Amino acid sequence: MCGIVAYLGDKQAYPILVNGLHRLEYRGYDSAGVALVTAGELKVYKCQGKVAELEAHVNGQDRSGTVGIGHTRWATHGQPNDVNAHPHVSTSGDLALIHNGIIENYAAIKEELLHRGHRFRSETDTEVLVHLIDDIRSSENMDLPNAVRLALESVVGAYAIVVLDRTNPDMLVAARKSSPLVVGVGENGEHFLASDATPIVEHTRNVVYLEDGEMAVIERGKGLRVLNMRNQEKTPFVQELEMHLEALEKGGYDHFMLKEIFEQPRSIRDSMRGRLNLAQSEVVLGGIKDHEQRFVNAKRIIIVGCGTSWHAGLVGEYLFEDLARIPVEVEYASEFRYRDPIIHEEDIVLAISQSGETADTLAAIEMAKSKGATIIGICNVVGSSIARVTHAGSYTHAGPEIGVASTKAFTAQVTVLTLMALMIGQRRGTLAASRFHQLINELDSIPAKVEKVLANDAHIRYIADIYRNATNALYLGRGYTFPVALEGALKLKEISYIHAEGYPAAEMKHGPIALIDEEMPVFVIATKGASYEKVVSNIQEVKARKGKIIAIVTEGDTVVKGIADHVIEIPGAPDCLVPLLSVVPLQLISYHIAVMRGCNVDQPRNLAKSVTVE
Ligand code: GLU
Repeated sequence: MCGIVAYLGDKQAYPILVNGLHRLEYRGYDSAGVALVTAGELKVYKCQGKVAELEAHVNGQDRSGTVGIGHTRWATHGQPNDVNAHPHVSTSGDLALIHNGIIENYAAIKEELLHRGHRFRSETDTEVLVHLIDDIRSSENMDLPNAVRLALESVVGAYAIVVLDRTNPDMLVAARKSSPLVVGVGENGEHFLASDATPIVEHTRNVVYLEDGEMAVIERGKGLRVLNMRNQEKTPFVQELEMHLEALEKGGYDHFMLKEIFEQPRSIRDSMRGRLNLAQSEVVLGGIKDHEQRFVNAKRIIIVGCGTSWHAGLVGEYLFEDLARIPVEVEYASEFRYRDPIIHEEDIVLAISQSGETADTLAAIEMAKSKGATIIGICNVVGSSIARVTHAGSYTHAGPEIGVASTKAFTAQVTVLTLMALMIGQRRGTLAASRFHQLINELDSIPAKVEKVLANDAHIRYIADIYRNATNALYLGRGYTFPVALEGALKLKEISYIHAEGYPAAEMKHGPIALIDEEMPVFVIATKGASYEKVVSNIQEVKARKGKIIAIVTEGDTVVKGIADHVIEIPGAPDCLVPLLSVVPLQLISYHIAVMRGCNVDQPRNLAKSVTVE
């Protein structure tokens, strides 16, 4: 959830840390802090609020030093305030520590440490770590790496940590379990540590992804050592980053979210690149090639995800059942993992996560793996935990998504699911050659059609202006567009704080219709296709109760135009591809309403981009 960054080298650490924190701020942003060793003194600056507030707080103070750690917090234990902000400092004043995750048994450890005379300043679970490490180090007379290792033996929970030592500014010690941590290997012996590669890429392209249960010890003049919890050293595997710096900038847009919505023609194209071969009439997914046969023979597919990824999974359910005729279950990862579900060896579990670090999805994967299922990942962040723990997978290749409300990652996930369902359908013979050929050509034309939807932005903004003061909204869809209705409602909730619900259009009469009056905007996806007439009837039902209809329709539609209050036209497409087009106007509606209401679109309250706690 939070962002961790650290530096040890020959440059000034502070500007590197603050710049890194800005890059990581999308992960968590309720407070921020840094610790530096400046001429033998430990300097800790931290405060509630954004990184910009930290900068204002530090302004004018001594911030020199070539080693330091920095943190943006997403509070789990204790309010977001100055004291609870990280780094936390040990009773001796020698160690400073930053942490991402949750220490589940912190209460027991705290009690023990209080008996041993430690003073706690914050309400966080994190603070026990710094006292515990310091306690072990002084009582056992141990070096820092060993004290960290021993302390972590008694810790239950999830963590990525970095420890800075005032008495030895030539060393940083880091460790991870269930929370991500990347080491950047720079020039002249300098090293970086971060929760993801975004703060590192402008300094070096060489990175080492730490595995769960590993520690990194960085020492000036000696470089990087990677150790496991049994103190065995392993040769670090240095990989080259493919990320580009421009992808981390707003590029002229007011917000990352708007940039990412407008990037979709390109990101969808990138998700298909090298995978859709029109000339040979085939779909090739290199990442799952070795497990393709198991996929083809699967008796059942279980899709797990959270939030927007779960919605993409629901589209996947329609796709696999329609095109490949395999039964599908879509599960919230958090429910699935604790339910002792029935899983067979012939099951395929598809795990979807933008960040590839979603804690519940990771736990669901581990559980399904232990029961013998084949696990296939769909994630966006290259080198992420999910990419590494699954048997096979396909990256979505949407590029870094910084806006907390997911947009281009959703359409990229749906694109990959479409490619998979087409490929498996073809291999299983459930998809006639002519339909397969038609669909891959239609899929190829989706980026150009998304471009046309985006060209409607001014009209969408005009509609947003009319409904900006709504307090509730309903989203309806049927068949393939039911998950889009859920996603549309989620986008509005997330960034504009308007209460919104998504429903299958026919379900409306079983409850939500009671809410409809002249104040209630109802967004309906009413595109031409299998359920068109039925949805038109549902629209009539809303109109009969004076609700306001904003309909997403197929270009040239006249019927819905005659009944709805507003229509937004999108190009025609086969039903199975309509989610990729119809979600785009809903993303834009939410974006504009949120901006008009003065909300912080890229960093909505209480949310964080990468949910690394369960
Ligand atoms: N559990 C810790 C806290 O509440 C760390 C949260 C985070 O990952 O930012 O301070």
